[in-house]
Amino acid sequence: METKRPYYVTIGLEIHVELKTNTKAFCSCKNESIVIGQEDLPNTNVCPVCTGQPGTLPVLNKAAVDHMVRVGLAIGAEIADFTEFDRKNYFYPDIPKAYQISQYKFPIVSGGKLARIDITRVHLEEDTATSSHDTGGYSLINYNRAGVPLMELVTEPLIRDTETIVVFAKELQLLLRTLGASDANMERGQMRVEVNVSISPDRDKPWPKYVEVKNINSFQAAKKAAEYEISRMTDLWENGRENEIIKETRGWDENKQITISQRSKENAEDYRYFPEPDLPKLYLHSMYDLDEVKNSLPELPWQMRERYKKDFDIKDSDIEIFVNEQVMRDFFEAIVTEIHDKNSIQLASNYITSDLAGIMKTDKDALLPTPEDFAELMKMAQEGELSSRGVKDILFVMVKTPIKPKDYATEHDLIQKNDPEFLKNLAQKLISENPDVVASYKSGKENAIMSLVGKIMKESGGSANPQMAKDILLELLK
Ligand SMILES: [Zn+2]
Repeated sequence: METKRPYYVTIGLEIHVELKTNTKAFCSCKNESIVIGQEDLPNTNVCPVCTGQPGTLPVLNKAAVDHMVRVGLAIGAEIADFTEFDRKNYFYPDIPKAYQISQYKFPIVSGGKLARIDITRVHLEEDTATSSHDTGGYSLINYNRAGVPLMELVTEPLIRDTETIVVFAKELQLLLRTLGASDANMERGQMRVEVNVSISPDRDKPWPKYVEVKNINSFQAAKKAAEYEISRMTDLWENGRENEIIKETRGWDENKQITISQRSKENAEDYRYFPEPDLPKLYLHSMYDLDEVKNSLPELPWQMRERYKKDFDIKDSDIEIFVNEQVMRDFFEAIVTEIHDKNSIQLASNYITSDLAGIMKTDKDALLPTPEDFAELMKMAQEGELSSRGVKDILFVMVKTPIKPKDYATEHDLIQKNDPEFLKNLAQKLISENPDVVASYKSGKENAIMSLVGKIMKESGGSANPQMAKDILLELLK
């Protein structure tokens, strides 16, 4: 958009993630999220503790704290020695206790970095219930989610472009899955991204009136919501109406692709935070041997990228597929135990990420071939015994039936005819049959030779090696 002056965008993210534990954060109710395709029986995972009945006491689920510590160590953050829980007071139907157990002054995790973005803090709290208002005249509430351990991660407001939102959120999702901390499925609400956006005419002074956008259920929606806000605010600024920009919470309407004002934003003091008296204070440095926990972490996504680059020197786009898709990664890792030279590994990586991944995605009945058979196919391709067309054809058969590529190629006459004598005879025959093409080539039209190569390919049923055919023709026509 053409504007009268430049505007500087400031974006910060607040991401909530349901942690994967057997039970809820402060009681022994099951922590199960809704399984797609199955009926979620409302209000079945509830008890007096998570519904806040008088006289009950919360008990901290250590598994949730374990996840927090591991996430913190993975992002190179500081794990607090002293940490405590606080009551965040507000009155709303999805909060049965009329307060949420959260953390205020002493979060478990501070600092750290992910996808080059600085993290402010990561704290542990409990999730709220889910309510539905579209039932005609009344609202329904389901307390199954109330009390599920929820991690809240806050970034520094240092993001300047909307694409970075997607990059960051995807990297966080990948990290959480790698650590087994959460399935982090956005559509199922296991990971919820809130985007804080402001724009300012002064590069060094972010505008204090920022907008927080909620109800985002995909990476792309997060990006679009931020873009929508940037353009809405720019419009107001351009028309001298910047005083209409208020600090507020807005919801993303996926159907209309717009944000809608929900409420003006509370300040921290509105929540009257105070330390939760019913839970113990924690001294994490005595509870955990942090070095030991750090050493027990699995290979992290960025470590894996580095190893793949160093060991296999394959394309970055291929590496991304392996880092993100465990099935393809396990298959590739099995292949590299069979083939060892760099060229064959790169070739295998190409076929796995493009052709094989493509087949697996579109054909639900396709099965991965055995690593041995696939490695054999790659060897044949590398040695020029098969054309790339031949490799693809065999691959299509291999995902349906267990076949030995070599036997199949022989049976179906797919082995490239690289016998020089055979090609030479064929070339001679075609030269005498096509005097006009030969004349044209000799008169300087070098491309004419390709028509002869084409004829050789045709007569050999596609099994000739085209480069070899061309070389032989060049030799004969010298
Ligand atoms: Zn409960």
